[in-house]
Amino acid sequence: SPILLWFRKDFRLADHPMLDAAVRSGRPIIPVFILDEVVETYGAAPKWRLGEALQEFRRQLERLGSRLILRRGKAKECLLTLTQETGAQDIWWGRTYDPNSITRDTEVKTALKAAGYNARSFRGHLLFEPWVVETKQGGFFKVYSPFWRAVKDRNIPFPRPTPEKLAASTNWPQSEDIANWALGSAMNRGAQVIAQHAVVGEAAALQRLNTFLDGPIKAYKERRDFLAEPATSRLSENLAWGEISPRTIWHAGMRARHKGAPGAECFLKELVWREFAYHLAYHSPQITTRNWREEWDSFPWSEEDDEDVLRWKQGRTGIPLVDAAMRELYLTGYMHNRSRMIVGSFLTKHMMKHWRIGQKWFEDCLIDWDPASNAMGWQWMAGSGPDAAPYFRIFNPETQAKKFDPDRAYITRFVSELSPDPGSEASSFYEFCPRSWHLTPNLPYPDPIVDLSEGRLRALAAYQARRDQK
Ligand code: FAD
Repeated sequence: SPILLWFRKDFRLADHPMLDAAVRSGRPIIPVFILDEVVETYGAAPKWRLGEALQEFRRQLERLGSRLILRRGKAKECLLTLTQETGAQDIWWGRTYDPNSITRDTEVKTALKAAGYNARSFRGHLLFEPWVVETKQGGFFKVYSPFWRAVKDRNIPFPRPTPEKLAASTNWPQSEDIANWALGSAMNRGAQVIAQHAVVGEAAALQRLNTFLDGPIKAYKERRDFLAEPATSRLSENLAWGEISPRTIWHAGMRARHKGAPGAECFLKELVWREFAYHLAYHSPQITTRNWREEWDSFPWSEEDDEDVLRWKQGRTGIPLVDAAMRELYLTGYMHNRSRMIVGSFLTKHMMKHWRIGQKWFEDCLIDWDPASNAMGWQWMAGSGPDAAPYFRIFNPETQAKKFDPDRAYITRFVSELSPDPGSEASSFYEFCPRSWHLTPNLPYPDPIVDLSEGRLRALAAYQARRDQK
């Protein structure tokens, strides 16, 4: 009988343990994607980007003589229906480790097993399964550096090659039409704006990796914080959708290191931050929803989604670097790592807003949205997470701009009001921001919503008061 392969965030053919095992079994395979209860909760940009990934992946499968069957509904029910329609006894998938996926997958596995089917899950999303890395005492790591030391010399198997052909089913079930799902419907700017920045699919991801290895990796350590430079890999988007495997990137980084590329080790360390995020999300799933350190529950962060929050989202805080970063996010679906830290610090410290507000907005806007890295990033910035930046370390956006955007190329690229000759990107913000924002290009650049030194002192006073309470 055929094997049902349930794809979720693993839209590639190479180095795919589940696919590899299916091909080696010699049995017909039926690739499936389900718009299920977890996927329905994705934000606007991730949903749009998922649609792009699915269309490209379907084309890839078709080139190998296969198909991608699309279904919508509760995962458990769709899979049970498909087993009946196809006669499949085996249902396989690649593991994902965020709390929502784990809840869904546990339910699916229990139901399939109870109905007499063989449900099997595979690794592939990470370099190391979250449970194989342990401290000497047998617990999980709460600090990154010892985590890195524990994994850096581990033997990671080489990536598996791409299969040349996929055994087709003789009995294809019906597929829904992706156009009817309207995955981009919540995005007012998907096709026109974000599409210019998205790099979709396995071949494009590999090319992106090669471009990075050919140049930027050498100076990665020195240049990666410069906001206007193409100094980082941008592979987060492809990793988020599984269009490239972390092992492929790891081994490419290792080869660059052997060849003496000075930035390679630093790059590998960043890749392992992603592993650490999943390690934390797996062992302490509350990181995605609550203060990881409970003592922060008494901190007076405001959760009110008020006018100031709107100005933060709009990139109209009156702080040029924060505004450039927020518009980069809105217009490209991506934000530079240092900018993520700066806008996160500004929101949670200068503005005293809860990190969950930022987490949610990123979730709605990022095409590289990743539930584990996003949660860890926000809690790291807010100070409430494991191994977090100490709360009293408050980024000064002006100092950061002087250091990492010295010629203001980043600010002028995204903020038309501050640019003597705004390019199409900066100008398009006003064209594509929601009508409900009532923004027009002739609006003057706003005054700062908070005085930087006053905001800083206010945050420090709140922090001190919380400590005194203890
Ligand atoms: P590179 O510099 O080329 O790094 C290579 C890879 O290492 C990245 O693709 C990524 O997979 C991983 N990586 C690098 N830095 C980090 C990090 N700090 N945490 C975890 N993994 C890292 N990353 C996401 O992929 N999705 C998110 O939703 C996300 N949200 C974030 C929110 C905040 C508040 C912060 C501070 C960081 C967030 N990050 C997130 C991490 C980081 O900003 C991005 O992974 C990085 O900017 C991606 O760009 P790149 O691929 O060019 O990275």
